[in-house]
Amino acid sequence: MKRPGRKPSGLFLLVAGRCKVIGMVPSRLRAPGAISFALLCLAVVPCSHAQRTQFKPGWNRYSPQEDISLGKQVAVDAEKQLPSCNAPNVDAYLTELGKKLVAKLPTGGVEYPCEFHCVNDKAINAFALPGGYVFVNRGAIEASDNEAQLAGVMAHELSHVALRHGTSEATKAQFAQTGVGILGAIFGGNAGGALLTELGRFSAGGVLLRYSRSAETQADVVGTQVLYDAGYDPRALAQFFEKIEAESKGQNPPEFFSDHPNPEHRVERVQEEIDKLGGLPRNMKRDSAEFEAIKREVLALPVVRRETLAGGGAAPRPMGPPPAPSAKFEEYQAAAYGMKYPDNWKKYGEKESVLFAPDGGLIEGSDGKPGLAYGVIVDVTKVPGDASDGKAMEKLTQELIGTLQKSNPKMKIARQSGRVRLNGQPALSTYLSNESPAGGEETDWLITVIRPEGLVSFVCAAPQKDYEKYDQTFSAILDSVRFGK
Ligand SMILES: [Zn+2]
Repeated sequence: MKRPGRKPSGLFLLVAGRCKVIGMVPSRLRAPGAISFALLCLAVVPCSHAQRTQFKPGWNRYSPQEDISLGKQVAVDAEKQLPSCNAPNVDAYLTELGKKLVAKLPTGGVEYPCEFHCVNDKAINAFALPGGYVFVNRGAIEASDNEAQLAGVMAHELSHVALRHGTSEATKAQFAQTGVGILGAIFGGNAGGALLTELGRFSAGGVLLRYSRSAETQADVVGTQVLYDAGYDPRALAQFFEKIEAESKGQNPPEFFSDHPNPEHRVERVQEEIDKLGGLPRNMKRDSAEFEAIKREVLALPVVRRETLAGGGAAPRPMGPPPAPSAKFEEYQAAAYGMKYPDNWKKYGEKESVLFAPDGGLIEGSDGKPGLAYGVIVDVTKVPGDASDGKAMEKLTQELIGTLQKSNPKMKIARQSGRVRLNGQPALSTYLSNESPAGGEETDWLITVIRPEGLVSFVCAAPQKDYEKYDQTFSAILDSVRFGK
């Protein structure tokens, strides 16, 4: 499997050409901007775009191409974990309907791959991973009264994709509790849920799929616009959510609402948007013979028992220990340093802040948060002022340990810092003990070096019981480190 974010341009080539926008207006005219907007209005008569609400995607450390590669990786795993409907007709129908909606989706010029899958799960739910990998439970199809309602759910999901809510939430989660980026965010398991999904493992509770109420309202509004533009009854989206909520009164709420919290005044906000669009469209579509046939087919599918659903809301179980580190190494080059790592490990993150871990090296701890059990974290912390004096390295290392301890309350210094050399540079070696997300004690070997770019830190982590097996690999990784001039 390709490592996330390594060759975004290649990945983009791979998906280019699929899922093209197929509206009346050539895709090059769909780019935002006054001229193309005017042309769009000329081409689509009557022009009812003038008043519509527009949203900009929120703060996001990922690029749209990373959305695609990350979503693809998680989608591959989701497909393995979730039972398929095994009904090619249904997938083909969802794909056709989905692409009709995608053609009207305001993606800011990005072409998302957009795949549609039917999941054999009776729970009323659907989700879309970044990049447009959409999974629709049979339960959502069965609960839809007509094609417009199903299109409404899918338009809502696709709007999360276009507004890039998944990676935006992940960005917020990573930075919410710490200022030290990846290092503080995932070390020992802080709020870095994004990295658990970067691992490529699908979890129904993944941070990529947990939206805020304001994101829900945005997805409702944009989803309503998409329905409208695709010629469907734009009220269908809110009607569907209202209906499933009303039907579940007093019982367990539909699974959908656990990831998509019901925003207040949903129906009113959707109605307001329809007014802005110029009222209900003429000849709007509500249902189709195809939908009714597909719904009958889905109702007749064999039922997969809930307990066998790996992604059914249960926390992913920690896997066994990872495979032994390969003796072959890959290279990684950042601006401040170069290094090598076993070629059966994966790289997460980018630039100076990266993490290298084997499959199964990043796992969910007993507190339900992801953490690094096996692997190496590298980060560069900017140093204020003059760091060239001899004492700075000790002081900055102590500060870094203090920061780590805030996210890892059980972390202790096991062996005081001692002077070593790394690629000929003076460095400090410190051993820490911590609680392993894999259970039991963990050993963390911390190496810090002062460089013009800041304090470069390497944290080599493994459970204490397995540490000896990793010691040699960690030493080889550190031996491979090269600093610039
Ligand atoms: Zn939503």
